[in-house]
Amino acid sequence: MERRNAWKTYTQEQLKELDQINDRYKVCLDEGKTERECIRLTVKEIEKQGYRNLNDIKGSLKTGDKVYAVCMGKSIAMFRIGKEPLENGMNILGAHIDSPRIDVKQNPLYENEELAYLDTHYYGGIKKYQWVTLPLAMHGVVAKKDGSIVEISIGEDAEDPVLYITDLLIHLSGKQLQKKAAEVIEGEMLDILIGSRPLAELPDDSKKDAVKQNVLKILNEKYGIEEEDFLSAELEIVPAGKARDCGLDRSMIAAYGQDDRVCAYTSLAAMLEMEETPKRTGCCLLVDKEEIGSVGATGMQSRFFENSVAELLDGMGCYSELALRRALRNSSMLSSDVSAGYDPAYGEAFEKKNAAYLGRGIVLNKFTGARGKSGSNDANAEYVARVRRIFDDHNVAFQTAELGKVDFGGGGTIAYIAALYGMEVIDSGVAVLSMHAPWEVTSKADVYEAYKAYKAFLLDA
Ligand code: MN
Ligand code: MN
Repeated sequence: MERRNAWKTYTQEQLKELDQINDRYKVCLDEGKTERECIRLTVKEIEKQGYRNLNDIKGSLKTGDKVYAVCMGKSIAMFRIGKEPLENGMNILGAHIDSPRIDVKQNPLYENEELAYLDTHYYGGIKKYQWVTLPLAMHGVVAKKDGSIVEISIGEDAEDPVLYITDLLIHLSGKQLQKKAAEVIEGEMLDILIGSRPLAELPDDSKKDAVKQNVLKILNEKYGIEEEDFLSAELEIVPAGKARDCGLDRSMIAAYGQDDRVCAYTSLAAMLEMEETPKRTGCCLLVDKEEIGSVGATGMQSRFFENSVAELLDGMGCYSELALRRALRNSSMLSSDVSAGYDPAYGEAFEKKNAAYLGRGIVLNKFTGARGKSGSNDANAEYVARVRRIFDDHNVAFQTAELGKVDFGGGGTIAYIAALYGMEVIDSGVAVLSMHAPWEVTSKADVYEAYKAYKAFLLDA
């Protein structure tokens, strides 16, 4: 049961569309490197297309309306109200917009031997040794006591300075290289080098930590922030630089944060390109905190989504507890998250018949989990059949896979949380090489097929 390579099937016209989608995707990757940036970008795009904030709406909602709700600037639910009653359920595309990275601690700034650093705590699952000796950027916000928010983005413009995490030179690494890979770089060693120049004009009695003081002076001049403001900041350290075409044939994309922005972007694009008012209400849900267990107010486990659907029903004049439960239970969802792409260099980690391959289209994961499917949403066979039919009807290239060989590891997504409502949900997404590395690789054909798949699903599920 081998699946075909999608590249072999494209017409000139399709190749043109494929390039357009991928060019827009790269721009979005560059502009949305954090969950907050993704939400800002999304709201800007969808408002251009007539989506209105549920909070601002006076009067009632009706078929054809486009609305959205944002939770704390980090997750969003958008709806295109369909012709059928909401109680009949929605077609939902869900993806996450947080990615593994390195977060700055609340009391981060220190100086050691005239070098200034920011102390950090990594976010999500990373191989720590991959994050050293790279140009890094800092994105985020500083919330000040007076209620103002300072946006920070340093390291992306060609003129910007970048930040850096050091590693030991090879010449002195005899002992380090004997360590296990998990211990070569430990969590507390991921501190960010941010300065080495002492503040010159200090009086003699306060020359201590002059490099740190100079960094503080720069932060104060540029952003109006003081050291205590770090206490209420969310600063994320990510690889600096733009998404790039990868391969001499330009068939792939190398970029930071493709898990899971590749699914978020394609879901959003599909949502925005729904031409007519759909039969069933279409929904695109982009959530935060998946990489740390979907926790918190902005993660999938929060009531944000459920509350938004309740507001939607209320706006349509048909809210009741039962209507809400029915709307959720009768929904169909693609929980969209990336899959492990088969990597010949590490072939022993995969079972070849049930692996996802770059270029063979969107991946359906009937289940995820680890050690005996533990923690998995195991989609119903009947639902898998329905999704297969939709994809085949719309000529979407798809493949099925599981994450590596049995008992080699595992991973989770947001599917099991949506399944709590009793709705049909299956994991689907794009295969990625070097998932969770600073630069991840996807196939442009798979990006295109995911976009096609999500469009088909919104229309026909
Ligand atoms: Mn993911
Ligand atoms: Mn992930």
